[in-house]
Amino acid sequence: YISNRYLKPYAVYNEKMKSDHEERSMSLIQLDEAIKNKEFQVYYQPIYDAQTEKIVSAEALVRWHSPTNGVILPSKFIPALEESGYITILDTYVYQSVQEFLEKECQDIPIKISMNLSRMDLMNQNIMNLILENERNQHINYEVTESAYSSLSVNANDFLSTLHQRGNMILMDDFGSGVSSLSTIRDFEFDIIKIDMGFVRNIGYSQSNDSILASLIEMIHRLEMKVVAEGVETKEQLDFLKEHGCDFIQGFYFSKPLIKNDFKKLISN
Ligand code: C2E
Ligand code: MG
Ligand code: MG
Ligand code: MG
Repeated sequence: YISNRYLKPYAVYNEKMKSDHEERSMSLIQLDEAIKNKEFQVYYQPIYDAQTEKIVSAEALVRWHSPTNGVILPSKFIPALEESGYITILDTYVYQSVQEFLEKECQDIPIKISMNLSRMDLMNQNIMNLILENERNQHINYEVTESAYSSLSVNANDFLSTLHQRGNMILMDDFGSGVSSLSTIRDFEFDIIKIDMGFVRNIGYSQSNDSILASLIEMIHRLEMKVVAEGVETKEQLDFLKEHGCDFIQGFYFSKPLIKNDFKKLISN
């Protein structure tokens, strides 16, 4: 016998929860409209070679310029789009914008751009086919988080291996932040591991943090992969990372994500 008292929490669905949900979610029509009105803009955050301090690539990061609410960061709208699966529509748009930027504006500039693939994209055959069938995307790299990777289907695994074999780099994003399982980086040949900014933030504050970070860099190198440190904000963090052989640096110390034209200016010099 289970008392009603214990079942109750699961049955409760009040008006407040309903409105919270509606606030976060976006209908397909709203999303299409926003894309059509060019409210979503792709920003580019440069990624630097740690030794030469030259820009080698950039990460595409989307922002929503809402006519009513101003500039909105991904954490405010991406979770809801992932829940509904509509993130794939947005990521298709991001993909096309990145490709157009590379083709029309970066013809003579040797730059790679990496974009984020959501867990939902890796379950969607349409976006995977679009990317695979497109012969002109050799300068685009793909970032996948641990959690997205750990639930990968056979199709998605084939998709990532095919890209990797063609020379599109596959990056593991936010490494070390989630339910990190080392088997993920043992079982798939990632090209680059991006160490989560949580470790970078704690450089110089915790001996055990610094030890983990130094060992992570060494371990990744032994696996013949490269390392990006994310969220580098200070000279002290940069020096530590350089000293321990980190390959690439991304963070506000060098640059925030920039609108297309500013990024273009930066790489044209
Ligand atoms: P992420 O892929 O791990 O991207 C890195 C995030 O760190 C970005 O946040 C970037 O602005 C921020 N960042 C970079 N350097 C620094 C720093 O020095 N200090 C601090 N405090 N932050 C720094 P952003 O742009 O808000 O994006 C958050 C997350 O949203 C991304 O994390 C990614 O998971 C997701 N996201 C962004 N754009 C897209 C997209 O086009 N498609 C998909 N599927 N996800 C996206
Ligand atoms: Mg990323
Ligand atoms: Mg990241
Ligand atoms: Mg992240």
